[in-house]
Amino acid sequence: KAKPLTDLAIANAAVMKPILEIAQNAGIPEEAVEPYGRYKAKIDVSKLPVSQSYGKVVLVTATSPTPAGEGKSTVTVGLADALSRLGEKSMIALREPSLGPVMGVKGGAAGGGYAQVLPMEEINLHFNGDIHAITTANNALSAMIDNHIHQGNVLGIDPRRITWKRALDMNDRALRHITIGLGGPGQGIPREDGFDITVASEIMAVFCLATSLQDLKERLSQMVIGYTYEKEAVTVRDLGIEGALTLLLKEAFKPNLVQTIEGTPALIHGGPFANIAHGCNSLMATNTARKLADVVVTEAGFGSDLGAEKFMDIKARKGGFAPDAVVVVTTIRALKMHGGVKKTDLGAENVQAVMDGIVNLEKHLETVRAFGVHPVVALNRFITDSSAELDYVLKWCKENGVRAALTDVWGRGGEGGLDLAKQVLELLDEPNDFAPLYDVEQSVIEKITTIVTKVYGGKGIVLTDKARKDLLQIEQNGWDILPVCMAKTQYSFSDDPKKLGRPEDFTITIREIIPKLGAGFLVCLTGDIMTMPGLPKTPAALHMDIDENGNAVGLM
Ligand code: ADP
Repeated sequence: KAKPLTDLAIANAAVMKPILEIAQNAGIPEEAVEPYGRYKAKIDVSKLPVSQSYGKVVLVTATSPTPAGEGKSTVTVGLADALSRLGEKSMIALREPSLGPVMGVKGGAAGGGYAQVLPMEEINLHFNGDIHAITTANNALSAMIDNHIHQGNVLGIDPRRITWKRALDMNDRALRHITIGLGGPGQGIPREDGFDITVASEIMAVFCLATSLQDLKERLSQMVIGYTYEKEAVTVRDLGIEGALTLLLKEAFKPNLVQTIEGTPALIHGGPFANIAHGCNSLMATNTARKLADVVVTEAGFGSDLGAEKFMDIKARKGGFAPDAVVVVTTIRALKMHGGVKKTDLGAENVQAVMDGIVNLEKHLETVRAFGVHPVVALNRFITDSSAELDYVLKWCKENGVRAALTDVWGRGGEGGLDLAKQVLELLDEPNDFAPLYDVEQSVIEKITTIVTKVYGGKGIVLTDKARKDLLQIEQNGWDILPVCMAKTQYSFSDDPKKLGRPEDFTITIREIIPKLGAGFLVCLTGDIMTMPGLPKTPAALHMDIDENGNAVGLM
């Protein structure tokens, strides 16, 4: 049998329509379209027709993934294509890929096989400059903070208590802890600093949760950058630069329109990670898609314990909408991994391991239901899967009263997602009782404990001394009424990436609680999770190249 084509080869062979045609099909008037080349555009939402009705929202999540990902973006794209084939007016809302994983281990985030968004290369490599703009706004703020101190420090900012970090959209462990301002009086005030990956930065979160440019400015002004010698919080408003930061983000803030291989319109905008940030594309993109389409298919990162929980408890709550159906993507290889098989042996048939690993899927389904919404399982088929393995999962779903569809959108595009699409449409007709899991009025401890017990299946939490001090300060400032954004490994329900399957009886250690007032949540760092990832021994970058005609090579 011939070797399957790479994602890049399939993407390059696809014939794209001019972006104005895609916009027209999506009901976007020409005056709202700002083309970035022939196949990408930004949308000026102020020029969209006023819409009275909103489309339904389908959230795509997954079981706890292997390092390669289980195909959420791929299924998101394929499902929307299948809905288009069934005559539904569908639209995709996805996150923008970060260069960290592109250059690192996971690769791009534009879908895969015959379920991809195009132009794949440009989407994966600093797409329309949005992440650049966010990085620049972040670092402009850092520069203003250091300059303020250098120029006399009127605000009395304590250089030891600056919490704002610099940002870079790359995996670079060497920048986690740095010293700046060395070299004498002309070079600024020496202090410790560090970098976060841009997709974990507060500006990325603010960008994704703001509902207008004015709201963006207001949220940016509320960001806390550190504390004075008197331990009073210092905000961007105190520094007076929210206007400049908003200006730097003005163009980036417009959602980006692209197309799938099959011509379904897709808005790709904002890209926070789901393990160390809130993991959902921008509210601007989701709301724009809701106004334009009848069914919006969107994705939240990693498993339902991370992206989906934050989609429900943070994004949907802020955005004032509810997910109407949830797709839980799983794969035979992930279930086998949860059943104890080594990563190097996942290709070989092992029905027993699938049986042992299915508890992971079971817990993710319980989590989705805990939010009052109905799930449908998308079993994302790989060519290495055996029919005995696939049959077992489908039978298990049937016996447990869960809708399930075998999907092959990677191999067959929308055609391979028709069963899933039909089941999703049935679900959309059923009422649900969506509600966030906790009330923001509850105490911070109660909110975190709710997530740990109801979503992760753990028995409770442990706070380090540092986290206790953080909590005290948060309570003294009255910030405890915010939702929480958990930063946790994506590999396990627990905070230990090695505890696969469905661990029980575990506690989650909260290491640090960081108030993000602009984003409007409290980030809780658990276990060893870091906000600046590192590169693996053999980064994906080693396989990348450019050929003599200027074409990309090895970009998945
Ligand atoms: P996620 O969004 O869950 O992280 P992606 O959709 O990005 O996952 O897929 C991860 C990788 O796996 C991509 O390179 C994609 O091409 C590949 N992939 C997804 N589904 C399949 C499949 N059914 N068969 C082979 N490769 C797949």
